[in-house]
Amino acid sequence: MEVAGVEVAPEHWIDGRRVGSPRTFPVRSPIDGRVLGEVAAGGPEEVAEAVAAARAAFSAWAALGPEGRAPILRRFAAGIRDRSEELAAVETEDNGSLALGNRKNIIPRSARNIEFFAEWALELRPDPIAGRTVDDHVRYAPAGVAALVVPWNAPFMLGTWKVGPALAAGDTVVLKPPEWAPLTSSLMADIAAEAGVPPGVLNVVQGIGEEAGAALVAHPEVARISFTGSTETGRFIGEVAGRNLVPVSFELGGKSPFLVFADADLAAAARTVARQYINAGQVCLAGTRILVEAPIAERFLAMVRAETEALPVGDPRDPATRIGPLITPEHFARVHGFVERALADGAVPLFGGGPHPFGELYYRPTLLDGVRQDMEIVQNEVFGPVLTWQTFSEEAEAVALADDTRYGLAAMVYTRDERRAVRIAERLQVGTVWVNCFFVRDLEAPFGGARRSGIGREGGTWSFDFFCDVKNVAIRRGSFGNGSDR
Ligand code: NAD
Repeated sequence: MEVAGVEVAPEHWIDGRRVGSPRTFPVRSPIDGRVLGEVAAGGPEEVAEAVAAARAAFSAWAALGPEGRAPILRRFAAGIRDRSEELAAVETEDNGSLALGNRKNIIPRSARNIEFFAEWALELRPDPIAGRTVDDHVRYAPAGVAALVVPWNAPFMLGTWKVGPALAAGDTVVLKPPEWAPLTSSLMADIAAEAGVPPGVLNVVQGIGEEAGAALVAHPEVARISFTGSTETGRFIGEVAGRNLVPVSFELGGKSPFLVFADADLAAAARTVARQYINAGQVCLAGTRILVEAPIAERFLAMVRAETEALPVGDPRDPATRIGPLITPEHFARVHGFVERALADGAVPLFGGGPHPFGELYYRPTLLDGVRQDMEIVQNEVFGPVLTWQTFSEEAEAVALADDTRYGLAAMVYTRDERRAVRIAERLQVGTVWVNCFFVRDLEAPFGGARRSGIGREGGTWSFDFFCDVKNVAIRRGSFGNGSDR
């Protein structure tokens, strides 16, 4: 099929070749509902083929070592950079994310994901630990076949965030792209093959989550499962992985608090609150619960309103647009359902609260006041341009409200008081605390969620702790005649 002038193969990529399926599923653009094409709907058979190919390719890929893999992965990253305009354009058609953001940030970051972990693997030789009688030599050994399952809101970037460390670690992979945005993962296979990633090392099986995804995570030859998606799907995959005793890394949903204190740089805080609406709020990390110190609430609301009004809603291909469409009619109905139930339960829109006239899947940036902590709109992830507004009088109350959901992905804290920022950061049970900033993340830092927002951490060495079997080789000191036994 051709999308945004780019040829995209609708088949799976298994053992270095394109493989079709008897069944297909339609892919529509959220921009205007156009059918972009039909993509192969895989199931247990295609998954078995892909896992067998990955298994067969494993020993040779593992044996290359980080030094042998790095040049191939560098070419893979370069290939992503060479095709960044095309990747950005196809991603926008497929999932409605902003073309400008894809071009400037998301695709370059994806190339970096591949390159960074290839380089990191080269340095991953911890110093021996000197014990009383032995020296412990820690080694990062490839684990086998990794199953990688990604969501639709940033499939290419999140795919590379898993493919990069898995391949750098020496694992071979089967990637299951999201059925609502499967296209750039197909391009990823082309780019990897052109870069010299051998057949079977990177496989892509397209299909529906409950079919292709479920078959993949249940496959007995899978050694690792890295999943990014909703908490509900995570629970399901966790049960399957538990039965097979396969280690999982889960990056799940969020309902992150955004704390604003009276002493904060309010202009910066208001700009960042408005940024939570970017990509129509379909961002796992979004700070969707605005908690404001009461005395500044009114003034701050006016600033947030002005910043939000300055964000054009429209076609995500237009570089001026900041808020594009929701992904599908089903998701639109889900988001609107949350808002309607909140309004019926006493919430009051400070702005927004319903569909946007630009098109079928566009929603007004919405801010809801009058919410109680036990309401669904405060407790559950909406994954749309919908924020709640609550005030607090003191720090302890802010921390208690911030921590009072089942999630723990991230938190934002805006204050000029460094000691307070550190105190709060230490108390919040979340994976990432951003103080006076948002969304910046170095690849060497740990990333993941606390509580129902995830299991495990990835990033830097944490990624290798997951994708490798961490092995200890304990060598008795002096046993080779080159030291003394103590
Ligand atoms: P989802 O859980 O519905 O689907 C995610 C992936 O899992 C898709 O590829 C889907 O096909 C697959 N899947 C669905 N059912 C499956 C099953 N039974 N077995 C195996 N695979 C299955 O999530 P989504 O709607 O695509 O994405 C939105 C969610 O992802 C939100 O909750 C969001 O917060 C979360 N997310 C989290 C992060 C993070 O880093 N924590 C990042 C992005 C998105």
